[in-house]
Amino acid sequence: MAEVRPAPTPGPAPAAPGLFASLDPCVHCGFCLQACPTYLATGDESDSPRGRIVLMRALERGEVPPSDPGLQQHLDACLGCRGCEPVCPAGVGYGRGLEAARTILAKERGFRPLARLMLATFRTEAFWRPAFTLWRWLRDLGVTRRLAGSDRLGFGMAMMSSTAPARAIGQAPVVPAATRGRVALFRGCVMDTLFTHVHEATRLTLAVNGYEVVEVPGQGCCGALHDHAGDHASAVTLAEANVRAFLESADFVVVNSAGCGALLKDYGHLLGTAEAAAFAARVKDVSELLAAAGPLPGRPLDLDVVYDAPCHLQHAQRVHDAPLALLRAIPGLRLRLLPDSDKCCGSAGIYSLLEPALSRAVLDSKLAALAAATPRPAYVATGNPGCLMQIGGGLEAAGLPMRAVHPVELLAWSYTAG
Ligand code: SF4
Ligand code: SF4
Repeated sequence: MAEVRPAPTPGPAPAAPGLFASLDPCVHCGFCLQACPTYLATGDESDSPRGRIVLMRALERGEVPPSDPGLQQHLDACLGCRGCEPVCPAGVGYGRGLEAARTILAKERGFRPLARLMLATFRTEAFWRPAFTLWRWLRDLGVTRRLAGSDRLGFGMAMMSSTAPARAIGQAPVVPAATRGRVALFRGCVMDTLFTHVHEATRLTLAVNGYEVVEVPGQGCCGALHDHAGDHASAVTLAEANVRAFLESADFVVVNSAGCGALLKDYGHLLGTAEAAAFAARVKDVSELLAAAGPLPGRPLDLDVVYDAPCHLQHAQRVHDAPLALLRAIPGLRLRLLPDSDKCCGSAGIYSLLEPALSRAVLDSKLAALAAATPRPAYVATGNPGCLMQIGGGLEAAGLPMRAVHPVELLAWSYTAG
């Protein structure tokens, strides 16, 4: 009689072919390990790029299900900073692989309640604008400063408090005729509520350097937080709205948030349309446009400043020298690179809320470098709202007497000094 065998239990389905193709070049050499802030913090190979690539490959082949708690833990713990990409001799596109893995995880388990709340807030202007406007009022009334501290709630307050302008921008100088073309300002969400002083500095410095700055209605959040979290559908919806809003608006779309800029430049990949690719080709970080213009030197500022590179400017957009060129246009300013300035500060969008312990462990190395900097800088310059809040909040919570500012703020102070 023929043997009756139980039907095999079906395993997890393999991922669609090609989804992880950007990981194909990995030869497991491990050169990326020392560039990875989470590996340096935990010492666990599964928290390194090489370890996570092994996990993503297992997910792709269906050998590990998306519900596996270990897989989820190590992929959740990734900052998405892409510090592993420029050091990889094989040219692995780690960020694309992570994006694909997180989209699969999001479909399997949805989002944690805090992530769901944050993503829903950023999806709709009717939610984020009143929420951040309220935070700005609390900041301006000094409430967030009084509640700032180093526990979880206190650190959140310190982050909000640190968004206050460090110094007012003075009277705008007479600006030259606009000979370098029209640029449309991408205002974003956090930048358009908590960092309006950075927008003011952006408009002023661009105008001084011969750009006509125009405002574009109908734009919104760039969708980077959604894209990084695996909420692909929301990222696409937000990107489509922005591409429509900026259609034919100007020669360039200028952005002063490195995280937003990285995704705006990637809209062609995200949406897969010629229109989105044309939009992406016009996107420039404000430092790129200013560096292309010279920029014009300002009046002297007698200041010690260290520069810390935002990951999404340095690693994702590969913009290295432009912010330094901008700061070097300020006579008298003594500029240094912060040691390990190419390493993430632990902010990474909503990561600091979702993974607070590891985020703070990564930030601690940055704060230690700032505390050890001699002579002590008055300002840390960095061009991304997440980094400004993470480093600024860390400085405030640690009682270190320096402020985090956007590089264009320093240039605007220089242009309007005296
Ligand atoms: S990602 Fe690049 S650096 Fe890291 S192990 Fe693979 S090939 Fe080596
Ligand atoms: S993206 Fe950043 S945290 Fe994630 S593996 Fe690469 S270096 Fe590490």
